[in-house]
Amino acid sequence: HFLSFEGIDGSGKSTQARMLADHLRQAGRDVVLTREPGGSAGAEEIRRLVLEGDPDKWSAETEILLFTAARRDHLEKTVWPALEDGKVVICDRFADSTRLYQGITRGDLRGVVDRLHDQMIACEPDLTFVIDMDPAMGLARAKGRQGTEERFEDFGLGLQERMREGFLNLAHEFADRCVVVDGARAIDAVAADVARITMDRLSP
Ligand code: C5P
Repeated sequence: HFLSFEGIDGSGKSTQARMLADHLRQAGRDVVLTREPGGSAGAEEIRRLVLEGDPDKWSAETEILLFTAARRDHLEKTVWPALEDGKVVICDRFADSTRLYQGITRGDLRGVVDRLHDQMIACEPDLTFVIDMDPAMGLARAKGRQGTEERFEDFGLGLQERMREGFLNLAHEFADRCVVVDGARAIDAVAADVARITMDRLSP
């Protein structure tokens, strides 16, 4: 089973991904917890190329190629082998983040993202949690963190509002695999929902 977590910066998706991994391991499942961009040696190198340094170094199109290359390497080296071994793979962000961030922040490039995805990725999670939250709350949480690489927090609330809308629209577009969870509650309450929904989907 392949699960992903999506949401705006500060939505708590990384925390929820980690808590679900712990929960499933306690239930005896073999779990690989991974993230994008990154999740394999090569993809982590590409992550550094894209997220560190001058944000204008790459054109929007080149950036889409880099994210897609990172995803392909991550799938080949980490995700597909684990799924073949029968493990549960939990990924902190996946292609939905690219559909949104690379698809809309630097122009209307969703078509480019989709065409590359069809050709080089052609793979979707079985279940995607969209952790939904008021952007002001997410932004406050994201800014409270140290040493992170929040590329977009300086764009402020306007962009975060668009991203929230975008994630909710994607959840609608991919309603067969997406579940929207209210992330504005206590962390344990969110985690309990996520665990229950996952167990429902994973059990035959
Ligand atoms: O999820 P994480 O906090 O690791 O993401 C790091 C930064 O990269 C965030 O600011 C996020 O918005 C950005 N990002 C991006 N394009 C993606 C995935 C993440 O610009 N496809």
